[in-house]
Formats: sequence, C-alpha cells, structure tokens
Amino acid sequence: MAYRSKTKKQESGKLYLVATPIGNLEDITYRAVKILQKVDIIAAEDTRKSGILLDKYDINTPMLSYHKFNEKERAGVLTDRIKAGEDIAVISDAGTPGISDPAREIVKKSVELGIKIIPIPGPSAAISALAASGLESTTFSFYGFLPKTENKIIKFLENVKFREETSVFYESPRRVCETLKIIKQVMNNREVVVAKELTKIYEHFFRGTVEAVLEMLNEENLKGEFVIMISGAENSKQVDDITIKELLEEMLQQGMTKKSAVEQIVERYDIRKNRVYKISLEI
Ligand code: SAM
Repeated sequence: MAYRSKTKKQESGKLYLVATPIGNLEDITYRAVKILQKVDIIAAEDTRKSGILLDKYDINTPMLSYHKFNEKERAGVLTDRIKAGEDIAVISDAGTPGISDPAREIVKKSVELGIKIIPIPGPSAAISALAASGLESTTFSFYGFLPKTENKIIKFLENVKFREETSVFYESPRRVCETLKIIKQVMNNREVVVAKELTKIYEHFFRGTVEAVLEMLNEENLKGEFVIMISGAENSKQVDDITIKELLEEMLQQGMTKKSAVEQIVERYDIRKNRVYKISLEI
C-alpha cells in the first residue's frame, strides 16, 4: 500500500504534546522518539537546546520556535497547518509541555477548532520530586513558580499555610534560600523537602524542617534546578476542638490572658487564629 504524502493529506492533522527529559537524555520514551521522528514539524521552546536531544535520537524533523513570547501568534499559524493536514509535536526545553512551560495557547486553540490533542507522557520535575520526597503524595497542590516579589510571596503563602495537602513549587537557584526564609517566616518551622538537579549527576534531596534545610543549603553550591515541597498543615488536622478548649482553660487558669493563650496555641499547632478564637469564646 502506498503511503499518502504528508502534505497531501486531506483530513486534519494532530497535535502531540511530547514530554522530554529533565536532565538525563535517556529519560525519553520509545513512543516519544517515534512521534518526534514521524510528525511534520516540531514546535520547540528553544530549537538550539532541543537540537541536542533530536541529534541523539536521529530525529531529523524540521523545528520551529514556539516560546512564551510568540506562542499566541504561533498558535494560530500552527493550528492552521494542522487543519491543513500536518501533524505537529510541541516540546519544551525540559519535561512536560504546558507545565510551567508553553503549550497552553496551542492547546486552547486546538480545543476550539476540534483538533485531536494527544499527550505523550514522560518526565515532569514536580512529579518526580514529589514521588521521592517522602511527603504525603496522595493529595498535593502544584503551584508552578511563586510570585516574584517578597510581599506577593508572603500573601500567597498565607493561603497555602493552612492547606492540608503537600504544596509543590518550582524555584530558581538564585531565590531558593530567600524563598525558604519566607516560608519559615509565614509557616514557622514546617517540614520541607527540596529536590535539586533531578536525574542529573548532582541530584540530591534535602529533607527536614525549613531551618535544617536552609542550613544544609547554605553549605551547598546553589547552582542547578530546584523543586520545593512543603508538608501539609497536618497539625491542624490532629488537634481537635476539645483539646484546644482544654488547653485554653488550663492556660487561663495559670493566669494567662485570653489573647496570649490564643496566640500561643495558634503558634504551637500552626492553626487558624479564627478557629482558636471562636473556641475561646465558649469559655
Ligand atoms: N515543564 C517542566 C516540567 O514538566 O517539569 C518544567 C519547566 S519550568 C520552566 C523549569 C523549572 O522546573 C525549574 O526552574 C525547576 O524549578 C524545575 N525543574 C526542571 N528540571 C528540573 C530538574 N532536573 N531538577 C529539579 N527541578 C527541575
């Protein structure tokens, strides 16, 4: 049977979202390589960087740049080409496209146009980090990168503080210690895990309280890539209302003011002030 020429296809092509390695170039699936070899075009975040991966796997498919500065405009051009019959694969510099990386615009446009979107699963730093962290991994929230300014980070973390699931963030090496200091300030000495350079030579997991991890990182060469994970506010689950009431009564009997008793319990158990305050009103 003769193959139809790709360019003469009548029906719409497909959009593939192909996950690529996050460091170790061997972390790519057979299927990903096959798809990258057979599509008509690869839309890559950085064609120079992706060239190294494509060379390793004898992938000679033409590339076109698709990054955060041109993704809106390129999404239209690329979906037109898919509609005309071409198959296109989107890849990012590392990991899964669309996860803190470009892809959203082309996916959105493809959904609107009824284009078939096929994810080709593979590495993502957040998932690898979480799986090996030792923290609760059944439920978690992934937030991508934190806001840039200290005030915004504090405001953001004030909300994260009471979440009972593990929180996962991406962070740059320049800001990892600064961010941990802010986490300490907002969430007290919570358990955290910092995953460094996953799948690479200097892969390392730093586990402990924020203070302990900061100490470990201070002695480290802070080059590379990092994922920060914060354990959930478990204590707020563990301490029940009756215990809080008993503790408050005890503290008041010892002569403490209601205000400082509430504050001490909030600090000790890392729980919402409102909750303790409400219980204190029953006394
Ligand atoms: N799309 C990617 C994914 O699926 O993981 C994420 C891309 S995002 C632009 C890059 C951030 O991911 C880095 O700043 C770092 O926080 C994290 N990251 C990527 N590769 C990593 C690695 N090998 N080790 C630790 N963190 C990594």
